Amino acid sequence: MTTNAQLFETAQNLMPGGVNSPVRAFGSVGGTPVAMISGQGPYLTDTEGKEYVDLVGSWGPALLGHKHPEVTEAVRKAVDAGLGFGTSHPSEARLAELVRDRVPGAEMIRMVSTGTEATMTAVRLARGATGKNLVVKFAGCYHGHSDGLLAAAGSGVATLGLPGSAGVTEAQASETIVLEYNDRSGLETVFNEHGENIAAVITEATPANMGVVPPEPGFNQLIRDLTSKYGAKMIFDEVMTGFRITEAGYWGASGRQEGWTPDLFTFGKVIGGGLPTAAVAGSREVMEHLAPTGPVYHAGTLPGNPVAMAAGVATLEAATAEVYEHIDSKAEVVAEALTAALNDAGVEHSIQKVGSLFSVAFGTSATGVHNYTEAQSQESFRYGPFFHAMLDAGVYLPPSVFEAWFLSAAHDDAAVDRILQALPAAARAAAEATA
Ligand SMILES: *Cc1c(COP(=O)(O)O)cnc(C)c1O
Repeated sequence: MTTNAQLFETAQNLMPGGVNSPVRAFGSVGGTPVAMISGQGPYLTDTEGKEYVDLVGSWGPALLGHKHPEVTEAVRKAVDAGLGFGTSHPSEARLAELVRDRVPGAEMIRMVSTGTEATMTAVRLARGATGKNLVVKFAGCYHGHSDGLLAAAGSGVATLGLPGSAGVTEAQASETIVLEYNDRSGLETVFNEHGENIAAVITEATPANMGVVPPEPGFNQLIRDLTSKYGAKMIFDEVMTGFRITEAGYWGASGRQEGWTPDLFTFGKVIGGGLPTAAVAGSREVMEHLAPTGPVYHAGTLPGNPVAMAAGVATLEAATAEVYEHIDSKAEVVAEALTAALNDAGVEHSIQKVGSLFSVAFGTSATGVHNYTEAQSQESFRYGPFFHAMLDAGVYLPPSVFEAWFLSAAHDDAAVDRILQALPAAARAAAEATA
């Protein structure tokens, strides 16, 4: 048997940090990354044969749990027909139709391969459609790793962004304005000063990559109002929340009720049902700026791949209202038990929750976390010991305090009980943690 430790040692010689995406290296929680070899329903099994209740869900796609029979069957059928042809294929339009039925503002769709590509394309489209240059984003909102979206906040409100990664040039970052999330007056100031040059505001529908941070009431509406007033596009990044928070994503819990629609949506994660697919979608008017109908270029070898489309179609078809009700209610149970266990252990914390998406922040004020500055100032040192106590007890949490916990339709009472039983000892480990 190959152990996780042996595998990680081999991998570190062959891949930077031993991983293909940084958070998988367990840098912020310490210890040896666990390599999984199979998944079934709410469970994952690692290389050593140990089983875990999975609360990562492949970082979001596994809405239905692992190896859902209908999704697996649809993928098998697609594989039998051939892995891909680089041509049009009937299931592309089927997936596009399923998306539009749920989110009517997604009148037209372009499939891409990753969420990064979706947001990158949405930004190019906004610039191409408006003829303007500047993009406004919020600190702590993650939109993938394209250069211009890896900008960090400068000091002061209306300053232009600084490079957020080595290899991002000042020129690229300087066309991105970075504001604190939920900063209404900062947003108004930026539009007052730069309004004629702003192509787009991009925002996570509800942020969940700095821990979950709910938008304050009216914040998304303000983005909509200001972008409309100044002729900029509103890009609503639903890569994580799309088809997860409701059947119509976070828009279904916000814009649909409040009567607003963004110009562009980006989708990823759930839309591919576990295979690499994402999408940019929006009004016909904006979307037809894309090649070949318009001058904004986007192309790809794999977009619309039939195996990925089959996984996406089967996932959305199986994601019924009952699925969302189930996930919401299980998330409620786990979040309540989490806060009870932490209270019993005397750990100051806030549960950051929007629908079924939630995360925990340690040592925060009673009102919780509202932006990236507050997210970063929490007692994140408490998470490593908490995480490892849960891991030892057979619960696989995201290996970073800044990631949301993902439940699925497959999390039944037995899986949830295992989580609940593990929480008290983990809460005590968090209480005993030292910086
Ligand atoms: C995951 C994520 C992305 C990036 O998607 P990838 O498929 O990892 O490139 C973009 N935006 C948000 C909100 C995400 O959660």
